[in-house]
Amino acid sequence: MEIPFLNFAPMHQAIEPEMLAAFQRVYASNWFIMGQELEAFEDEYAHANACQYAIGVSNGLDALILSLKVLGIGPGDEVIVPSNTYIATVLAVSHVGAKPVFAEPNAQTYNFDPAKAEAVLSAATKAIMPVHLYGQACAMDEIMAFAEKHQLQVVEDNAQAHLAQFQGQFTGTFGAANGASFYPGKNLGALGDGGVITTNDLALAERLRALRNYGSQKKYHNAEIGYNMRLDELQAAFLRVKLAHLPEWTRQRQEIASWYHTHLPAHPDLILPAVAEGASHSYHLFVVRSSRRDALQSYLHAQGIGTLIHYPIAPHRQEAYQHLNLAEGSFPLAEELAQTVLSLPLWVGMTEGDVEQVAQAIKQFLQR
Ligand SMILES: *Cc1c(COP(=O)(O)O)cnc(C)c1O
Repeated sequence: MEIPFLNFAPMHQAIEPEMLAAFQRVYASNWFIMGQELEAFEDEYAHANACQYAIGVSNGLDALILSLKVLGIGPGDEVIVPSNTYIATVLAVSHVGAKPVFAEPNAQTYNFDPAKAEAVLSAATKAIMPVHLYGQACAMDEIMAFAEKHQLQVVEDNAQAHLAQFQGQFTGTFGAANGASFYPGKNLGALGDGGVITTNDLALAERLRALRNYGSQKKYHNAEIGYNMRLDELQAAFLRVKLAHLPEWTRQRQEIASWYHTHLPAHPDLILPAVAEGASHSYHLFVVRSSRRDALQSYLHAQGIGTLIHYPIAPHRQEAYQHLNLAEGSFPLAEELAQTVLSLPLWVGMTEGDVEQVAQAIKQFLQR
């Protein structure tokens, strides 16, 4: 039996009547932008994350751009980002005119490491962007202490970690303004693009609501040079349906991950995900490492098992960042991760039998 890397079907079949009802509600309302669905979703998302304000926006990248912008980060400023993140984190920094400065991650969790960030601090450093990579919460106690000590803003990139927690507090609620994504494959995915900013600061929330909508709070009155970065009513209505199921889906993801831990073999050339003390993991991705990653991926592909690589090229080695002149070897850990990581299938509806089949194929590969 084939096991795809990602399969929306079981999740989407189970909620089809609710999703169609949401569509019909919006269709009948004849109101498609900035209406009741968005307002209700924002309240429900803020409530689900135990934070004060959620501002729906067009996508995760825009959420990060607006978060940096509203905190006054811009030209002349430096922002510390992990060397092993998805490119969007870095792009957000570039788009507000600031300079991304990379810091290597923690070698066990692959997450933001304040000790490594300390080494790249400068007089121009204004903010840090911890990314809760693969769904695991960063060590937010150390990170917030580090930020406070050096008077830095914190913008969490929570695109992959909806409902993960550090010491009982939801990710995306530590920094002053934080971005998340509703790209379809994320743990909470729209049927298209979408994103959200979370904050506990009313003044920031009000400015963000204006910035995403042409800088306008009152129609045809534009207080500042804003954007069109809004979340549609239709996507908000779909997201309301899905948000209600997210705690159960997150629990399922954690269960699937526990099956992997049970069934995958202990082998020196197979590194499994490690969850740090105090952190929870929402398992957006189940990422293993092997020195023979490419051969393992081909072997699994031949057995009908889909895998992906998150991510094959570290941001500093992308053509877009050539001008930073960061040669190969500048960030050895990020580069090693790019060579060795492999994301195994993990989706709502996967059975323990599916996981055993993947684990069995990996075992066979390692024994060859
Ligand atoms: C998906 C993702 C983003 C960007 O989200 P989009 O909605 O695709 O713009 C940003 N950061 C990380 C870590 C992501 O995984």
